[in-house]
Amino acid sequence: MSYKTVINATQVKFSASHFLKEPFQCSRLHGHNYYVSVEVEASLDENYFVVNFIELKDKIKTIAQSLDHRVMIPELSSDLTITKTSESIEVVTSTNKRYVFPKIDVILLPLPATTSELLAKFIHDKLKEIYSDKRITVKLEETKNTVAVYKGN
Ligand SMILES: [Zn+2]
Repeated sequence: MSYKTVINATQVKFSASHFLKEPFQCSRLHGHNYYVSVEVEASLDENYFVVNFIELKDKIKTIAQSLDHRVMIPELSSDLTITKTSESIEVVTSTNKRYVFPKIDVILLPLPATTSELLAKFIHDKLKEIYSDKRITVKLEETKNTVAVYKGN
């Protein structure tokens, strides 16, 4: 038997910008207010908790803060050429659009794209490093009508 703890989306939010692959409209630089929901399933621990709820919320907030008010660049994208200098990150797309961002405004993510699906998995994987023995599901709302879900094992 397993129990479930749920942190709902109204509690953890981050605002960030990104762009996706051509040729979609989303290939232009734009931003979202992302809302994160997390479900943790496990047996009860010695204190009869699935997980320490306050601690879990803090961990999710720390991950969200690392993304908050940043330009998210997918470092593993085969469509982007990324050049790092001490102060800036230059990104050239496959259609030769060229962005130069101050390094401090950017987070380079170990992902092939910054879709909500992959961002949900990224948040999942960060939490799984901490809660390796628990089953974690991350839901990421990009808009009120668009939710990506990543269910771990
Ligand atoms: Zn978007």
